[in-house]
Amino acid sequence: MFQKILIANRGEIALRVLRACKELGIQTVVVHSTADADAMHVRLADESVCIGPPPSRESYLNIHQIVAACEITGADAVHPGYGFLSENAKFADILAAHNITFIGPSGDHIRIMGDKIEAKRTAKRLGIPVVPGSDGAISDEKEAKRVAAAIGYPVIIKASAGGGGRGMKVARTEADLEVALQTAKSEAGAAFGDDAVYIEKYLEKPRHIELQVFGDGAGHGVHFGERDCSLQRRHQKVWEEANSPALNTEERSRIGGICAKAIADLGYSGAGTIEFLYENGEFYFIEMNTRLQVEHPVTEAITGIDLVHEQIRVASGGGLSVRQEDIKFNGHAIECRINAEDARTFTPSPGTITHFHTPGGLGVRVDSGVYSGYRIPPYYDSLIGKLIVHGRNRVECMMRLRRALDEFVVDGIKTTLPLFRDLVGNADIANGDYDIHWLEKYLAKVD
Ligand code: ADP
Repeated sequence: MFQKILIANRGEIALRVLRACKELGIQTVVVHSTADADAMHVRLADESVCIGPPPSRESYLNIHQIVAACEITGADAVHPGYGFLSENAKFADILAAHNITFIGPSGDHIRIMGDKIEAKRTAKRLGIPVVPGSDGAISDEKEAKRVAAAIGYPVIIKASAGGGGRGMKVARTEADLEVALQTAKSEAGAAFGDDAVYIEKYLEKPRHIELQVFGDGAGHGVHFGERDCSLQRRHQKVWEEANSPALNTEERSRIGGICAKAIADLGYSGAGTIEFLYENGEFYFIEMNTRLQVEHPVTEAITGIDLVHEQIRVASGGGLSVRQEDIKFNGHAIECRINAEDARTFTPSPGTITHFHTPGGLGVRVDSGVYSGYRIPPYYDSLIGKLIVHGRNRVECMMRLRRALDEFVVDGIKTTLPLFRDLVGNADIANGDYDIHWLEKYLAKVD
């Protein structure tokens, strides 16, 4: 087992990882920018190292500084959290070259999944169902027209290097195709420095369903069931559930079995999430994330398994603590992402939190690094906390969520809490009857 883990992240996820390390009796080091000197994870860690000024590229993305911090403190492993360097293959390779364990998959597996065309090709080869579309990058309009005609309109053009919902354009008819292709290419070039794009069938009313998987790096793979993250705004997840209100036990074990086998065949090590669009009973792979996800606590709530413990065990060579037959799904869980943003316009609202009170009681978990008097720096993501509620079934979970939201107090800044208070009272949400477009349509109506 590791002696000392360096946590290369900030905010709630840094604290989340720190808690797991403490439980396992592992020493912790955190790195931070000058803007985060007062952060909770810095206060609670055994050691901390300031690695640079506020902009991420000079601190949380600065590989040299992070490796130097490992060497100074004698850390033998790095947990990257999510975002920042968590899906940076070069970072994983550099750590390996310094004999420091990256708590995540190999640089090669990160590289394959970071390129969407390559990821889709790999998924297909491993027997995972994919969205019908072009086999690789589209070179010109003629080819785009041929592929689109074969799969049928509407189609979506997506950037191979894409992320965060950027570089995607829908074409409803052949007349739209030229403009969509050009815009997607130039957006992709500007955002990612790579203008390779590919075409997929555009699904009109899918749900976003993702499978939590784990590989031990020695040819074994398991799945921890799915999460439904269909409630999105601008392709950003807002509310996540486990299990999905749309799946039955048979569908869950079928797609779970396919994913676990794929992970085993790939020789994958650590946590991963295989994302699908789900429509009319069919699953369509869209991408795989090779890291811990923001929404992992809903899976922990229904399985009772600490996924960060599992990541650390696997990375240290200890293997998974569970076999597939040990993983049982118990009840229902919902996570609300609490952002420092206006609940209607989603404009960021940094500033000082004058009062912070979190709900408690049975089945309620709050993961957050903020506190009364904390000043939210304007440089980073606006997520300030996550409320995760568990119940024996979805109805009980929703009752508890409503109560927990009522108790939650964040004063001094605007947050997305009012949106969730509206959503718990909505009939479609109560019935679990929503797709990936539901939230945008709802927001357009209430405006
Ligand atoms: P990114 O990595 O940029 O987040 P994804 O491939 O994960 O891109 O897609 C993000 C979101 O875009 C999906 O959750 C879904 O809402 C939408 N999307 C992607 N592909 C399709 C498709 N083929 N049909 C309909 N919607 C899609």
